[in-house]
Amino acid sequence: MLTWTAVSLLTVPVTLAQVGTFALLTALAVAQTEVSRRLERQRRILSNGPYISMTSVWLLPAGLLLPAQLVATLGCVLYVYLAFRSWSGTRPGEFHRVAANATTMILSAFTAGVVGHMTLGSGVATVTLAALAFFTVNTALTGLGLYLADPKNATPVSCLGTMDDNLLELSTLCVGALLVMVLNEEPLLSGLVILPLYVLQRSVLIKRLEELATTDQKTQLLNATTWQDGAQREISRAERENGSFGAMMIDLDHFKRINDTYGHLAGDDVLKAVAAVVKQETRAHDLVGRFGGEEFVALLPATSKEDAIVTAERIRQRVSELVISTTTNEGEAVDIVRQTASIGVAAYPLDGASIEEVMASADAAVYAAKHGGRNRVVGSVAIPAMAAA
Ligand code: GH3
Ligand code: MG
Ligand code: MG
Repeated sequence: MLTWTAVSLLTVPVTLAQVGTFALLTALAVAQTEVSRRLERQRRILSNGPYISMTSVWLLPAGLLLPAQLVATLGCVLYVYLAFRSWSGTRPGEFHRVAANATTMILSAFTAGVVGHMTLGSGVATVTLAALAFFTVNTALTGLGLYLADPKNATPVSCLGTMDDNLLELSTLCVGALLVMVLNEEPLLSGLVILPLYVLQRSVLIKRLEELATTDQKTQLLNATTWQDGAQREISRAERENGSFGAMMIDLDHFKRINDTYGHLAGDDVLKAVAAVVKQETRAHDLVGRFGGEEFVALLPATSKEDAIVTAERIRQRVSELVISTTTNEGEAVDIVRQTASIGVAAYPLDGASIEEVMASADAAVYAAKHGGRNRVVGSVAIPAMAAA
């Protein structure tokens, strides 16, 4: 790409207006980087999927309005500047990642430029198609890069990002598309994009902080505090509406042995697999959380104790059937099987008038399940509801 840029630098003519647009885009990008430097650094440290850098806001207009050599120069200047000002010292292997990101973005901008030159329709259609081409090439190349970096653990979300990540990239491109129009009509108004971009970046950071504050990072279930807040709201609602709910406490059996035999990382994989089962076997509006080490809780709104016991039994069954492929501390591949769980079920208002009382009943039922031989569901009246199969 460097060679091609160098060759085109010498052969493709550049007009003074294009140099002006290039200078303006560079100035805007630098100003934007400076304004949001701290915000971006935090966002990058806290990001968990593909990181959306928001440089497309400058590179889409560049792709459409500038010759290739200026697009490539802008991309390089932008990423080198970002690497030094916003991202330095955040992660190892940074420069190789920066180079890959810069290349992807520049190629996306080139594609937008080609689409722009090929579409002879109105400005609206040209800019829209170019933005879509940018998005497609960027998503495909980034996804491919992330897949090749770690094919074993790759998932659609780890490669392609979440819906929110993609919406952020599309919003950035929308601002970029508007910037194309502004640069054509009233270049001096282009400074107006800096504040909306800053607010967009800030809202993304706030959302991520919220996620981190409410979710258990190992299992992606609610953390204990958030679960308790939700349960408290459920109690208030049930009180108001004379309603009821079921609740269960799930404790893995002899979990310590997993850690002792295979190591903590294998133990973590078991926790993740069990969390996924509990999530799958409950409804979207049920509150599912991780209470402590190997204890999970679920609150099922508007559900009787009998029905909650049926759900608990389904969870018990599926956990006992799990085959968890993981690696030991020594790096040896191993399939963990026959992990079981003891589940206690209680209900509001039958077993208590507060969330503490209901969960104390469920906890007592777990205790009874352990004493009854583990791998079983016990309803809080202390009579085993269903024995192990
Ligand atoms: P029981 O059947 O009586 O419940 O036995 P148990 O071994 O499951 O219970 P115990 O409370 O003795 O041990 C729980 C273990 O869970 C101890 C702790 O090391 C482990 N643990 C807690 N949190 C985590 C975690 O995040 N990851 C891993 N791998 N282990 C954890
Ligand atoms: Mg326990
Ligand atoms: Mg346990």
